[in-house]
Formats: sequence, structure tokens, C-alpha cells
Amino acid sequence: MTLENVGLRHYPKEINADLVYPKKTMPEFLAETAAKIPDHIALKFYHKEITYKGLHVLSNVFASSLQQEGIQKNDRVAIMLPNCPQFVISYYGILKTGGVVTQVNPMLIERELLYLLKDSGAETIVVYEPLYPRIKAIANETDLKSIIVVSFAADQLKLEEDISFEAFLGKGDGNVTPVHIDADEDVAVLQYTGGTTGLSKGAMLTHRNITVNALQSQEFFKQEVTFGEESCLTVIPLFHVFGMTSAMNLSILNGTKNILLPRFDLQEVLETIKNEQPTTFPGVPTMYIAITNHPEAEKYGIDSIRICNSGSAPMPVETMREFERKTGAKILEGYGLTEAAPVTHCNPPFAERKPGSVGIGYPSTEYKVVDLATGEEEVPFGEAGELIVRGPQVMKGYWNMPEETAHTLRDGWLFTGDIAKMDEEGYVYIVDRKKDMIISSGFNVYPRDIEEVLYEHPAVQEAVVIGVADPYRGESVKAIIVKKAEQDATENEIIEWAREKMAAYRVPRTVEFRTELPKTNVGKILRRALREEAGRQG
Ligand code: AMP
Repeated sequence: MTLENVGLRHYPKEINADLVYPKKTMPEFLAETAAKIPDHIALKFYHKEITYKGLHVLSNVFASSLQQEGIQKNDRVAIMLPNCPQFVISYYGILKTGGVVTQVNPMLIERELLYLLKDSGAETIVVYEPLYPRIKAIANETDLKSIIVVSFAADQLKLEEDISFEAFLGKGDGNVTPVHIDADEDVAVLQYTGGTTGLSKGAMLTHRNITVNALQSQEFFKQEVTFGEESCLTVIPLFHVFGMTSAMNLSILNGTKNILLPRFDLQEVLETIKNEQPTTFPGVPTMYIAITNHPEAEKYGIDSIRICNSGSAPMPVETMREFERKTGAKILEGYGLTEAAPVTHCNPPFAERKPGSVGIGYPSTEYKVVDLATGEEEVPFGEAGELIVRGPQVMKGYWNMPEETAHTLRDGWLFTGDIAKMDEEGYVYIVDRKKDMIISSGFNVYPRDIEEVLYEHPAVQEAVVIGVADPYRGESVKAIIVKKAEQDATENEIIEWAREKMAAYRVPRTVEFRTELPKTNVGKILRRALREEAGRQG
């Protein structure tokens, strides 16, 4: 029941289901697009526009500045920025040196940042000015040697130590010393994720992984997209693998104009759609829900968008229908994960779309649903098992974690940790997560991270964190706590306390106190039972 004999049958002959990777890197594709349409706008950020030629040149300058500073192949260079042109310039600049783009979620707080920076060993970071103090506070405990600060009001930026993005660009001459890249082996991006067991890990995405996933998307959507004529509204974050692939890789292949917004502000998103009339809009379900719930959504010309790709979390079918009724635009839901750079499935534009399903496999992507316990035998159509995938987009492994890698990658198959069903036509339905990850407003929240912090509270004896259904966020974070005998704490106290210790999206929204937690006979907390209970209570 691999792609070969099920999903493949939906591919028309014009679309290559067996894609051969041309062994080119993303910077090479950028150079090609810049040569073909040099004056076409690549990036638009409010009033600022950068052409394809401009992006190519600026990323060369950034790369040469990095090389001046001694950056070499395989060195990790962190980016901690909201969506902005400097993000894309840094990304391509780093890739051109053979350095490893290390993605940092700007919402991480010091403790989380420290872990990531130490784990990756990054010596250079490009950081947004308002986040700079957070980096400064921990820089001494990391390997950081160079901090490059991006400000949207660069002329007012005053730095006593460290360097502004503009001054850093001034160090380079745009001549990049050529670096040999082995696309199959060399790591392009270190993308942190909870993986399949809840511990934060750096997924090593090679140059081939990131390039091929963009090529797979390009092939899959080839009948819908015209080179040099599309514009994409990018409000999903570039630091997440979905934003990275759609905005920084696929867009470059297609010569798309990328309209970047740094945050999801509903009114601003709607005004931008009205003014810019984008043709594609990758989003997460919460974004589509917010748009649907706007009282005048139909007034913004949303039907100019031909392709709305939804991914990262399940898209409620009813919301999808309502969005489409109101706006006239059509959603194609896809599926992926960091470890697959990320997309493996999508509802096809060339065959039937099945609401509630994540569609069929991408070109050159095999997939099976296997027995949850053994991970070996395929389960019959319509039965739930673990979704496993194999293809050129599947990561090389986890950074410095050979055991985790061996557990997740077996014979080239990526064990996604997602429970899924497949129908007789090869369409996949995601049922639940085997892993305990919570997806709240499109952000991945790893219960264990939060529990570890909760355990630091003096009144906490035991803590477990689960996701509970939330009509707006998809899921919200709930903590269930057993207090120590002589200690007391209120729900508000715990929430306030957590707020100081973690990024806002991780903070529990509700806390329930119990005298004991359900456990297995070896003493493990029965998280699933708690989730089911919470589900039953609504
Ligand atoms: P990430 O590594 O951040 O990309 O998160 C990947 C996880 O998001 C997957 O393993 C799934 O659990 C979940 N996910 C992604 N897309 C979907 C979808 N369309 N429906 C349900 N879950 C999804």
C-alpha cells in the first residue's frame, strides 16, 4: 500500500510522480531565478521591495561578510527574527557559505534559548533588536561570539557592543569564496522540534532535503502556478519549517513575489489581501478560523487567492466549508513534519479533494500505515496505525542524538508518530498524535518542557500537561497538578508563575488540582486517559 500502487494512480501523466533530484542547492536556484527575472519583486515588506537580483546580491554580500568573520562550512549560524527581508537575506547568505541555518523561535525565553544555543553550538546569531536583551542575558553561557542586530529603525539603533545588520553587510564585498557542497550529506538547516518523544531535538535537513521538498511542491502544483506571475502572502513564520519551505524555497523556484508580514494581525492580513491580491496563502487552521469569523470577511477579495494551503495542524472540516462559503477561496489541506522538511502529503489540485483528509503522497514519497505496536505490518485500509514515510525529503537524522535517530528512522522510513488511516484510494486521514505534542494556535507545545518547569514550583508534587480541545486555538494547554501535602497554590498563582518562566504560548491556560493521577502499573502517568477525560468533559 505504498504510493506505488495506491496514491500514484491519481497523478496525471503531466505530473512526474517520480521526481529525480537535479543535485542543485537552493542558492543555485536563487541565482537562476535572479538571472531569469532580475527586476521582478522577490520580497515586499510594507513599503520596502527587494528584487530577485537584489536578493541574490544582498545574500552574496551577507555570505562574504560571514566568510570575512571566519564562518566556514558546517558552522551553525542562528537566526532569531520575525518575518522580514533580513531573514531571507541571512538564510541565503548562510547557505552560500555552507553554514548551517539554525532556526530559533523568537518567542523562546532565556532558559529555552540557552538550551538551543548550547545544543547547536552556534557562534553567530542574527537577532531582532527587541529580542537582543534576551540573547545578551545568556550570551556568556553559550558559544556565541558574534551577535548581528536587525532593527526596523536602523538609523536609531545604538549598539555599544555587537554590530548592526547594515554595518555587518558593510564588511563584505559580495565575492563569496566557493564552497563545495555535497547536497546529499551536508546539513543546510538545523530545525528544532520535539520530534516523536517530546525532547527538543535539532532535525538535520540537508541541502537535498530542503531543495527537493520545494521541487516536489512545485511539481505537485505545476498546473496551478505560473513562473514569475504568483504572489504569496507569508504570515506563517519563516522560523517554522512550513514557512521556510513555502516562502524561502518554493517561492524562489517559482519566481514568486513574497509579501511578508511579521505577525498575524487579522485586520492587517485582510487589508493586505485587499491591496496586494496575493494568489497563494499558506496558513495554519487558526488563521483560516480567524478570517472566517471576521464579520465582513467577504469584503476583502479573498477569492483572489487561488491556493490556500493549510497545514501544521488538523483543519476542522466545518471551518473549511465555512471559510470557502464566505470567501470563495479554496483550501487544500496538506501534512508534514519537521523531519520531512516538511511536506509529505497534500490534497491534490489535479484529483479529488477529500475534506478531513491530508490527501495523497507527494512525488517520490512512499507511505504506509503500520501496526502501532510493532511498526512492521501494514494495517488494512481504514484501520488506524502509525503513518510512516520514505522519500528524498526525509531528514538525515537528529543532531548529536544517534539513539533518537535510530528510533525514528528505520530502513529509510520515517516513523512520524502520527496515528493515521488510509482509504482505498491512498488518501490519508490523521487521527491523533502518538506523541504527546500539543498544537496550540499553530505552535507546537511539548508537555514535557512545561512539566519540567512546573515541577520546579515548591507546591508541586506531580504535574502533567495535556492539550484540551479549544475551538479557536485548536488545542489549549491544561496542567493537572497534585500538590505537596503541606503546600498550597491557586490556579492563578501557578499560571502567573509559569508566565515568568516560559514563552506565552506554552503557559497553561487552566490548572486543575487533584489528589492523585491515574498511572500504569509501572508508575507512568496515563496521559491518554487524562486527555480522554478532558475530551469527555468537553
Ligand atoms: P512540525 O514538526 O512542527 O511540522 O509538526 C508536525 C506535526 O504536526 C505532525 O507530526 C502532525 O502531528 C501535525 N500535523 C501537521 N499537519 C497536520 C494536519 N494537516 N493534520 C493533523 N496534524 C498535522
